[in-house]
Amino acid sequence: MDAIKTGIWAWLLAALLLGAACAANPVTGEQQLAMMSEQEEISVGARAYPVAIDQYGGGLPKDSAMQAYVGRVGRRVAGSSHRPELPWEFTVVESEEVNAFALPGGKIAITRGLLVRLPDEDSLAFVLAHEAGHVTARHFVSRHAKSSLINLGVVGVGVALGGSGWGGVAQRTAGTAGNLMLLSYSRDQERQADDLGSMYMIAAGYNPKAQVAVMELLLKLRDKEPSYVATLFSTHPLDQERLQTAKRRVEKVSPEVLARPMTPVPGPPKPPTLKRKRPSGYQQQG
Ligand SMILES: [Zn+2]
Repeated sequence: MDAIKTGIWAWLLAALLLGAACAANPVTGEQQLAMMSEQEEISVGARAYPVAIDQYGGGLPKDSAMQAYVGRVGRRVAGSSHRPELPWEFTVVESEEVNAFALPGGKIAITRGLLVRLPDEDSLAFVLAHEAGHVTARHFVSRHAKSSLINLGVVGVGVALGGSGWGGVAQRTAGTAGNLMLLSYSRDQERQADDLGSMYMIAAGYNPKAQVAVMELLLKLRDKEPSYVATLFSTHPLDQERLQTAKRRVEKVSPEVLARPMTPVPGPPKPPTLKRKRPSGYQQQG
């Protein structure tokens, strides 16, 4: 994981050199400090994606049933998001670890270890929609924008930014908080990704009750098999409070939506029908 972060970090620093600017957040419409234009965001994500997938032992073959399933569900929720036009991509990576991650510009991956534990398609839809929420709200850009500035405080950019508010932060916390902030989404970002994920999965026709089941599953895994979920919990903070918030969120959803049947995970592809041997003396008719 450190290697992934170092690789991503290198791209972000390169992007930073292109200049910081304020931009409207695609979800909230609020102005935020953005290190990258949307085009740069897409390009950084696209270049870091194969590196991150390799770190996980590679993706499953493009034509595998699991890959097709995740791609189909991912496109469905991303198509219902605030940024349907991004070049979204969803990949199942070959890892027993239970994790999912998103890179800027709509590049998302889920481990096989998490995928096989999800009980229905709606649960998968929530996991992917939550990751999509981090992308649409540009969480990656803003949290790395902060840490970029903080780290660059070490080399004096803090001075150049004096007066913007970030300069002082950069000088105070140079080199220490920077690394910590790289590691995880904030609780507020997690809550927003849950809100957005819930909204996107509902818009895509799924039952949002699945978000509660996913969180309960992950909390159970943390107690029983903590090593499998360590990275997930360090990047996407999850506690009882987030679970209770999810329950309250679901209570506010209309009864018609909550009555939607859960979509079962598609079974293994049916074996091709055996061809009957033609009886001897068979004559093809006109
Ligand atoms: Zn998250």
